[in-house]
Amino acid sequence: MVPASVFKSAILGISAILIATFVFHQYRRRQESRTEARAAAVEAAQARVRSEELQRLMTFSQALVNALDRPSLQQILCRTLPTFVGDRECWVLTRQGQRWDSLLQEVAAGTRRPVESLEPLAIRANESVESAQQRGLSTETDICFPLVAGGTPVGVMGIWNTPTLTDAERHAVGAAAAVVAVAIRNLQLLQELRELGLRDGLTGCFNRAHTLQALQNELQRARRTGRPLSVLMFDIDHFKTINDTSGHLHGDAVLAAVGRQLNDVLRSTDVRCRYGGDEFLVILPDTSVLGAQQVADCLRREIANLPLSRTMPASVTVSLGVTAVLPGELDVSTVIARADEALYRAKRAGRN
Ligand code: GH3
Ligand code: MG
Repeated sequence: MVPASVFKSAILGISAILIATFVFHQYRRRQESRTEARAAAVEAAQARVRSEELQRLMTFSQALVNALDRPSLQQILCRTLPTFVGDRECWVLTRQGQRWDSLLQEVAAGTRRPVESLEPLAIRANESVESAQQRGLSTETDICFPLVAGGTPVGVMGIWNTPTLTDAERHAVGAAAAVVAVAIRNLQLLQELRELGLRDGLTGCFNRAHTLQALQNELQRARRTGRPLSVLMFDIDHFKTINDTSGHLHGDAVLAAVGRQLNDVLRSTDVRCRYGGDEFLVILPDTSVLGAQQVADCLRREIANLPLSRTMPASVTVSLGVTAVLPGELDVSTVIARADEALYRAKRAGRN
């Protein structure tokens, strides 16, 4: 017979083990639910951040829809980019062909760096488009995002990386940069479309109506700023003979070659115009009459050296006339008449 006391203590021992197991089990379950709750909270916080980021991106894209010209794009970027980059300085250079232009310089307060110091950073970022598009290229000072739309590189956006961008911030800025790229490309296409109607298809030069308006604007600008302004006119020598001996198609090819040559010799800010037939007009902002004479002589030499087709009997020459705009002068026709008179003096003096 087992004494009752032994039996009792055995029961108590078993109960104690059962209770301890139960308590431990409950404790583990509570710990597990705590961990689950913590994970859910982290996930919820991440989802909130993602949703806020998406919302910001949507607001940004909606604002950029209204950017139909450069000044409004600049304004919108100034207003909205700080929501992605905070107080950090931010810049955007646009690229067309080999030329870089500043679209936005240092949104936030700070030392404004000259475009020349940003250009090398932009070129580096552009060279590593593949790897830098999403997370940007880290340079010593900035994180640079190449802006690419439809496979066309349109610029680079840079952010002064102090304080250092977090991974999430960097991800958000990368997404914003993709939207900026589309907005810049839209502007470029819109500009090209507008210009298509203003240009002569054969030479790529502006048409006469647009050039007269451009000259009017430049006269007003020169009067306001006091900067020099010159106008150059030229006409192909004996063009009728070229048409008559080699045919009109060849004549057209000569006009197109002259148009291309103008692009090589002139500054991008010079306005080139096919004034009519074989006569061209070029507006030279910020150029004195001496500068205009140098440009004219360079054009004369370069056009005479144009490599034309083998069927062409001789080289093409042009005669040119230049005039400086007088201080305060505003009448377009007087300026053109002076350049035209100079051109015909060159014709009378023996051409070329
Ligand atoms: P000059 O040295 O005095 O300027 O002699 P020119 O033979 O060049 O005389 P002018 O400038 O008056 O001749 C212009 C010619 O250009 C006449 C016209 O048939 C021709 N022309 C005008 N537009 C076009 C064009 O689009 N294509 C071609 N092929 N010829 C054109
Ligand atoms: Mg001619």
